[in-house]
Amino acid sequence: GAPDGRSFLEKWIEADLAKGGRCEKLKEKVLTRFPPEPNGYLHIGHAKSIMINFGLAYKYGGQCNLRFDDTNPDTEETEYVEAIQEDVAWVCQALNMEKMKKGGKPWKDEVLYASDYFQQMYDFAIDLIKHGKAYVDSQTPEEVQKNRGGGPNNLPGVDSKFRNRSVEENLKLFQEMQDGKHAEGSQLLRAKIDMQHPNMNMRDPPMYRIRFSSHHRSGDKWKVYPMYDFAHGNEDAIEGVTHSICTLEFENHRALYDWFLDNCSIIPSRPYQKEFARLEVQGAVTSKRKLLRYSIRSHKDQIVQSLVEQEGHVSGWDDSRLLTIRGIRRRGVRPQGLKCMADGVGVSDRNSTTPWDFVEECWREDLEPISKRRLAVLDPLEVEIVDYNKEELIEGITDLPEQSASSDPSCARTLSFSKSLFIDRSDYQENPPEGYFRLGAIGSEVKLRHSYVIKLKEVIKDKSGTVTKLKCSHDPATRDTMPADRKPKVIHWVNAKDCLDAEVRLINPLFLAMPDPMPEGKDFLDYINPEAMVRCAAKVEKALGKPVLEDRYQFERVGYFAPDYDCFSEPKKLSFNRVVPLKESADK
Ligand code: ATP
Ligand code: MG
Ligand code: MG
Repeated sequence: GAPDGRSFLEKWIEADLAKGGRCEKLKEKVLTRFPPEPNGYLHIGHAKSIMINFGLAYKYGGQCNLRFDDTNPDTEETEYVEAIQEDVAWVCQALNMEKMKKGGKPWKDEVLYASDYFQQMYDFAIDLIKHGKAYVDSQTPEEVQKNRGGGPNNLPGVDSKFRNRSVEENLKLFQEMQDGKHAEGSQLLRAKIDMQHPNMNMRDPPMYRIRFSSHHRSGDKWKVYPMYDFAHGNEDAIEGVTHSICTLEFENHRALYDWFLDNCSIIPSRPYQKEFARLEVQGAVTSKRKLLRYSIRSHKDQIVQSLVEQEGHVSGWDDSRLLTIRGIRRRGVRPQGLKCMADGVGVSDRNSTTPWDFVEECWREDLEPISKRRLAVLDPLEVEIVDYNKEELIEGITDLPEQSASSDPSCARTLSFSKSLFIDRSDYQENPPEGYFRLGAIGSEVKLRHSYVIKLKEVIKDKSGTVTKLKCSHDPATRDTMPADRKPKVIHWVNAKDCLDAEVRLINPLFLAMPDPMPEGKDFLDYINPEAMVRCAAKVEKALGKPVLEDRYQFERVGYFAPDYDCFSEPKKLSFNRVVPLKESADK
């Protein structure tokens, strides 16, 4: 961020507001938009764009439109439209918007569709033709490409031989394109700018091409579809968007964005574009095109599973290993965790890659203060307390360290204790290395969290030599206190008499470190982490038996967890996802 704490986007908006806003006739002094193409599910990068566009609008008392940029009939599906709305609303929960607190949607009014502006855009195109600023080009696609120039030798462009057609002829041909009289690819409506322009995007860019596919909303009404560069500024202008914020790859297109708005005589308002660096997360594959390769793809009514999905890498778009918004949400990250990440990365005009550790640190920071402390044993090893024959309750254990059970009994729970327990297998080592202070040699001691110090008496093994049980004694004076003369290590445990079986899923990065550049013949699918989801048959304390979706836990000494959807859908299965591990340095 900037030295004074304001981002360059904030300064930009504030400078406009200081002048009284972009323009007097605009209702909104700040109107931004989030314009996803409905061709896939949103991912972690989109979350940043959502935070920026909705966040800035909200900060300056403005609004943000949710606009489906559905100008390409080939790739868009209604299926994604619903999912995207749900995901945007979920991410925006972190912004604490007043209108959302009252049950409203985060966006201004209804959701918007670029396809609703097809007629207006068509009229804008006609206006440009009439002013001699656009023409129908009948070159073949190969000629169009070749005559653009550029390339390694930076060739100048060559004017099309159709460039000087009369206005009348252009109007007639454009109408014929829309009437379906010309084949796909045979004609192109192009802006008449400059075939020698140093910015390749300005070399008579295409405005309209012919497409015969059915559009997910307008059906077969249109045979010509606007190109992104022409459409985007038009869409912004039609809506009265004041600040059109996009990612850096469009920096080179800004001249064109401006050209279309400045050259059309019937443009209803004048928006401006500014670019910021997209969020790239180390090791993450977020591109929708690539995601389709390893997730379920639902196409029309038929579920088509990609090759890779059939090999079982992920189960769907909400698989908790994916960095789709749905995957992140299912894993147990909260919208506030995404906001913490977006704020932490900040707004920059230079591209960079965010380290995975940083992302985890933000998610952890969000969960730390609100996660209920619980005991869960991921790799259970039986312990018998040989000198203990009662059962007792240990009361008044609070969910969070700073809470007090005496002033607020609602945050307190009770643990039960018996002679039969489970501890984590890693808290015993037959041949402990130096500096190992848990159970190892006969006579070694640990303190059980919220309970007694126990001392190892005997190790039981099966025929194969696997340790199956530890027999221990206990020190009755230590239940509620550390012994005065020694400071044994504290470990977690559960009572075998009333603990519950649960599947605990350790979510690790979906991809192993990838070389950059990628070696010849390899692609990201060769780097799938086979341990991206490790399933543990865990034993968890009784209080974890009735989770609610919003619950977040710190399994003490293990990490931060959330109940998985499988807890709530039939057949119900008690299962928890590890959102993030504990900090590396944390007590092990
Ligand atoms: P992808 O191809 O990765 O799925 P996209 O840019 O094609 O992304 P859109 O649906 O067009 O996806 O994106 C909607 C908005 O989100 C755009 O304004 C785009 O700039 C922004 N956006 C997309 N990816 C990122 C990212 N990684 N970081 C920040 N903003 C992003
Ligand atoms: Mg896009
Ligand atoms: Mg895309």
